[in-house]
Amino acid sequence: MMNSWISIPEQSDFSIYNIPFGIGSTGTTPFVCTRIGDQVLNLNTVAETGFFKDITTDLSVFSQRTLNPFIALGKSVTNQVRIAIQKTLTDENSPLKNQGDAFMPYEKVEMHLPVEIGDYTDFYSSIEHATNVGKMFRDPDNALLPNWRHLPVGYHGRASSIVVSGTPVHRPKGQTKPVDAENPVFGPTKRLDFELEMGFVIGKNTQIGDSVSTEQAEEYIFGMALFNDWSARDVQKWEYVPLGPFLAKSFASGMSPWIVTLEALDPFRVPGPAQEPEVLPYLQYTGEKNYDIHLEVIITPENGDENIVSKSNFKYMYWNMCQQLAHHTCNGCNVHIGDLMASGTISGKDQESLGSMLELTLGGKKPITLSNGESRSFIQDGDTVTLRGWCAKENLRVGFGEVYNKILPAKS
Ligand code: CA
Repeated sequence: MMNSWISIPEQSDFSIYNIPFGIGSTGTTPFVCTRIGDQVLNLNTVAETGFFKDITTDLSVFSQRTLNPFIALGKSVTNQVRIAIQKTLTDENSPLKNQGDAFMPYEKVEMHLPVEIGDYTDFYSSIEHATNVGKMFRDPDNALLPNWRHLPVGYHGRASSIVVSGTPVHRPKGQTKPVDAENPVFGPTKRLDFELEMGFVIGKNTQIGDSVSTEQAEEYIFGMALFNDWSARDVQKWEYVPLGPFLAKSFASGMSPWIVTLEALDPFRVPGPAQEPEVLPYLQYTGEKNYDIHLEVIITPENGDENIVSKSNFKYMYWNMCQQLAHHTCNGCNVHIGDLMASGTISGKDQESLGSMLELTLGGKKPITLSNGESRSFIQDGDTVTLRGWCAKENLRVGFGEVYNKILPAKS
């Protein structure tokens, strides 16, 4: 057991075992930071005291607008930074005890998008989600298309509209075709939806032409964050044939501000589901590559209370991150530090574990009732959608905090 001299609330996601990384600011100057309990620790202030001098001489990485230069130091360095912070926060004689100016209550720190995301890829790796959506959008008897169990299906998304938690999102407009109408119409989406996802951040560049094996993949994954891949279902339904989602997904996606490292998640590894039929050799893997991460979706109407509408778990993923990255690079496509790869909607088997309104309400046919008596088929203006995620085991807790976005009316 590690004990910190910082007081950490019992159920905090940000225990001494976590030590995630993010970008914060209190004025105009951004800094790399971590979070411990309810405190944010400014790592630039810490670096300026010479604290990291035996680990890295490149201190400029701690005062950048994104984590990319820090991540580029490599895992051997960033892991040492994480462990040095962990050690000093448990050391009664820590020099940081005299560094009150390095700590700030988290409410006083503005958090920013933690990485510059060059490319964003969205997978479709939950078998429950793919089955549910296949039934609704296509054929109930052949919900999974023939390729699904042979490769992690994905598409290239839009990186420019990924926003940090707390950023409001305007209801998007688009082209839809009402069921009974002869011609399509244009206007605000009537079927705005969240997608409960997790994303992983690439931590090491590859060269074009190179492929990353499932065995090497973890070297290329810096860490994970919560991800809400906002979706307009009516736009999606009309536009997606034959090339897949386009404007129904590109208007916004929300990301939590803290990147939890793969090392912090190590105690929470679990085996993945059996894959039948056997996958091709380049997608085979050994070891436990899934993670037991509890997930929740909360809808909070304007001036209302929180309503937990879904409880899912990342461990349900059929395709794991190592397989996703091996597949992504099997053709020689290069990846860069900061690229984001999202899981796809994470649904479980039960009605309570579905990761989108599309599934929870059966395409809007069975609205859910909120605690204030209102019902929701899809997300309304004024609603805030929050995703939370955490790992818990015996006395260990490592969490992601949350990602939330409030929906504002469509711009006129
Ligand atoms: Ca998605």
